[in-house]
Amino acid sequence: MKNKQGMSWRTAFKINNRAISLLYKAHPQMVLSKLISIIWSSLTPYVSIYLSALIIEELSTSRNPETLKNLVLITLASSALIALISALITKWNNSQSAGMYFKCEQIFTKKLLDMDFISVDDTKTHELLSQIRQNQNGGGWGLYRVIYNYENLLYSIFTVLGGITLTISLFTSKVPESSGGYVIMNNTLFILLVVIVMLAVTFIAPSLSNKAGSYWAKNVGAHNLSNRLFGYFGFLGYKREIATDVRIYRQDLLCNKYEVNKDDAFRSKGIFAKLAKGPMGLLQAASAAVSVVSTGIVYVFVCLKSWAGAFGVGMITQYISSISKVTGGVSQFVSAAGDMKNNAVFLEQVFKFLDIPNTMYQGSLTVEKRRDRDYEVEFRNVSFKYPGADTFALSGVNIKFKVGERLAVVGMNGSGKTTFIKLLCRLYDPTEGEILLNGIDIRKYDYLDYMMIFSVVFQDFKLFSLTLGENVASGSKINEELAVDCLQKAGFGERLSEMENGIHTYLYKDYDKNGVNVSGGEAQKIAIARAIYKDAPFIVLDEPTAALDPMAEAEIYSKFNDIAGDKTAIYISHRLSSCKFCDEIAVFDHGSVVQMGTHSELVADTNGKYFELWNAQAQYYTA
Ligand code: ADP
Repeated sequence: MKNKQGMSWRTAFKINNRAISLLYKAHPQMVLSKLISIIWSSLTPYVSIYLSALIIEELSTSRNPETLKNLVLITLASSALIALISALITKWNNSQSAGMYFKCEQIFTKKLLDMDFISVDDTKTHELLSQIRQNQNGGGWGLYRVIYNYENLLYSIFTVLGGITLTISLFTSKVPESSGGYVIMNNTLFILLVVIVMLAVTFIAPSLSNKAGSYWAKNVGAHNLSNRLFGYFGFLGYKREIATDVRIYRQDLLCNKYEVNKDDAFRSKGIFAKLAKGPMGLLQAASAAVSVVSTGIVYVFVCLKSWAGAFGVGMITQYISSISKVTGGVSQFVSAAGDMKNNAVFLEQVFKFLDIPNTMYQGSLTVEKRRDRDYEVEFRNVSFKYPGADTFALSGVNIKFKVGERLAVVGMNGSGKTTFIKLLCRLYDPTEGEILLNGIDIRKYDYLDYMMIFSVVFQDFKLFSLTLGENVASGSKINEELAVDCLQKAGFGERLSEMENGIHTYLYKDYDKNGVNVSGGEAQKIAIARAIYKDAPFIVLDEPTAALDPMAEAEIYSKFNDIAGDKTAIYISHRLSSCKFCDEIAVFDHGSVVQMGTHSELVADTNGKYFELWNAQAQYYTA
């Protein structure tokens, strides 16, 4: 990634402000509780600094018991009150901040869910998201850090303001004229000089530290690459889906190659180790040294002024504590501001992701909830090219089908069958032509509403490590009777009856040690049950029997009419024998519909694609 050292402070603050507003909008109580808690904790220490100074002053001067008693009582009462309010604020803050990391994550998840499928499908989107996650997990950079930076910034501002209030009299109080050479400390120019030196030293330390931190932002490319490598190789061993290959091919040795690479950015010979030994380390050391000098100057000035008689011992504690807090505050302010600037480069990536436009959500028509389920879909001259592809995956497709029909879509691999379904469900919009639902372009419908009329079992469906019932119902509110009925219809009844906990059985063992592992075929049956449960007017099965054994396949076919009921069923298959029962068969070839008709009509056309496919498969099966 480009080195963004050139980003101006203004841009950096703008992007940080945008981030905090975004977090506030998503979780207002979380942000408010953090900020109020921070302001409170920055100001309260001054109460005890002020009161302690008064007590010491009283002890070292008049020693009036009545005054001392009152001061002690006020100190005790105020400490108790502060502690009580602090506890209440902390409780509020803790309850609001619980799961803060996940609250930030939700923003990304929500964006991903709302995003046009075309963007979700784009590898660039995933690369960007994975970079954002790596920045977060590797160096803590990104959205989550914004909260800490604002906390630090506010804490430092209020600390400095509180400290300055208690320090003003250090500069305004005069040493007696009788104190000889010390009267120079009453000179305005001298005071100004001291203030300037103090401020300069106070600013230099954190600036050096920020300069050291900026090497992270400068080397964001190396940082990201290394995190990606770690993110990939570091967790390969945990992945169940590759556990067999890892053993058979000893792929652990492959991963080890990465593990032992000392040149990796974070390893002993990597860029960050070199920087730590070189400029980064030097800058950090210089920053620490300058801080010590700054403390020294404060001590010398306060003690000399007291020695010369400007104020008593009690005030020494007040000034030293307050000035240390002010210098600490300034230092924290500069670090927080610098960190915000460094983090801005990472926030740019966050917003690049969050700003990916959603174009599919512009429609507003509601899909008529027809009791008779009388829907008609028409593809009119539809062509489609995948983003970045040179050739059309579909070209000039014209198809019309009514509800209640059984449509089979057949064709060789790559002929466009799945693409056709993805367009029908509006995962993509056509590049040319239009798709109509009851005569209206589907782009005019509300997107989510339109999605509700489809139940699809894609080839690459996924089940969750949740209960069987939750998987079928796609939620935690389950109509148990219906779920069992759907599982039975999908051919899972027998296996279900063997399960002690029925539909409350967990799938896989991730969250329950009694969870069950299911075979590919069984998983497909559960996915089919999920589609039936949704009870949408259209049910689409993409190669529904690919993972089923011949017995299970025959069972699904025999029940297919029952499964589809009064719905429109679209059925994709390479196996032509499984499509015979459909009312109509659309034959796809190289992205076009080359034939349509019933099985007997199509097989009679001996020059057609269907006949060719039918014969090829017949030979294959008889062989
Ligand atoms: P089928 O379902 O008939 O096997 P597909 O609809 O999956 O065929 O694919 C049709 C064509 O589109 C193929 O040439 C395939 O390589 C291409 N294709 C499918 N998905 C994508 C994608 N996400 N990006 C680019 N090309 C794709």
